[in-house]
Amino acid sequence: MNLQEQYENLLGLNLQELENLAAGFGQPRYRGRQIYHGIYVRRARDLAALSDLSREFRSALASHHSIAYPKVEREFASHDGSVRYLFRLPDDNRVETVYMPEEDRTTLCLSSQVGCALDCRFCFTALLGARRNLTAGEIIGQVLAVTTAQNVPRGARLNLVFMGMGEPMLNLPQVTSAVAILADPKGVGVTLRRITVSTVGIVPRIEEFAQISVRPKLAISLNASNDQQRSALMPINQKYPLADLLRVCRAYPLRPWEHITFEYVLLDGVNDSDEDARRVADLLRDLRAKVNLIPYNSGPNLPYRAPRFERVVAFQKILTDRRIPTFIRISRGQDIFAACGQLSLEGQVA
Ligand code: SAH
Repeated sequence: MNLQEQYENLLGLNLQELENLAAGFGQPRYRGRQIYHGIYVRRARDLAALSDLSREFRSALASHHSIAYPKVEREFASHDGSVRYLFRLPDDNRVETVYMPEEDRTTLCLSSQVGCALDCRFCFTALLGARRNLTAGEIIGQVLAVTTAQNVPRGARLNLVFMGMGEPMLNLPQVTSAVAILADPKGVGVTLRRITVSTVGIVPRIEEFAQISVRPKLAISLNASNDQQRSALMPINQKYPLADLLRVCRAYPLRPWEHITFEYVLLDGVNDSDEDARRVADLLRDLRAKVNLIPYNSGPNLPYRAPRFERVVAFQKILTDRRIPTFIRISRGQDIFAACGQLSLEGQVA
């Protein structure tokens, strides 16, 4: 067994769990609050840095616990400023996170699972198959490891998107626990409205997600304009076809400031025709929706290509003419294989 596995990681524990932990050591409960503040606000990276605890308590803690960030195994820096981080986890699984700085904000693309079970035909992560869920600590660890490495200060405009490896709705308990700590003003302190969970559309999980108290924004990977096409691209559509998916979207309890984002990966000659655009507009007509068009990011071993840019713009116009706010998303980090759907752990650099 790897050394780290013998120690229970404090990262991922919430306030109550840390208070209970302190009490278990015969300490007052507020010591738990000090640990919470230390690891999430001050970003202490080891127990020694929890300087408001007594030395005795720290050494007692150290016999079973640690603060373990995921280890950066490699980083790939893109010409556009984004960086793909390859992390090694204590069990030697690997997972990726992408850092994308912009002028007025920073976006981190987080992974929720090692590999993915869903087998979307165009996605490189799918080629890995399902491995395991990440823990809340491993999700929060991605955020803390990258923000400390890149000196992103607390309070900076930070967006978190669960659009890396994995299907967050198939790891909802850990994603929910992580988000509660990430969005806690007394925890990591990321604005809740700046956190987005993206899903292929697991219908019962979306219903569950709708009920959680600290609920981030929802994005749905639509990627097709009818069931036949969607099932061919995303096998999960056979289980949860468009009618079911759109039914939960219509029932979804949107907050006043909110809309549902639909992502649509444009694949040349597959789902990018004018008729597709019109059908998408029909599907979304009675929803408070926004569409992000993502020209496909190609790579080895998969046959798809992006359409010509004029096609992307024509597709957008059909939607905007029908009053659906539609944006073209050019993925960052294509030269380091860090773009949407390209995360695949093979360590390639184009
Ligand atoms: N499993 C979740 C989150 C991960 S994928 C989901 O499917 O939503 C994040 C987004 O990247 C999805 O919208 C997916 O359709 C898109 N995507 C996957 N592979 C892609 C590729 N090669 N090029 C562009 N977008 C891709």
